[in-house]
Amino acid sequence: MAQCEGKTRKGERCKREARPSSGFCSIHQDQEIRPPRDHDIEWDRDAITKAAIGFAMVGMIFFFRFRRC
Ligand SMILES: [Zn+2]
Repeated sequence: MAQCEGKTRKGERCKREARPSSGFCSIHQDQEIRPPRDHDIEWDRDAITKAAIGFAMVGMIFFFRFRRC
C-alpha cells in the first residue's frame, strides 16, 4: 500500500497508510489537493464582477477624456 503524502505538525512525512482513493490517510485527507468547484464558481463570479467594474471605469475615463477634447 502507498504511504500517506501528508505531513505531520513537525513537518515530517506521515508514516500512515494512504487510502486507495487518495494519496493521504484519513487524518491528512484535508491536505489532499482537490478541485474546489464551488469555490471556483464563486471566484469566477467575483472575477467577472470585478472585470465588469473595471471595464465600466475604463469606459468612463475614455468617455470623459473624449468629451474634453
Ligand atoms: Zn497521513
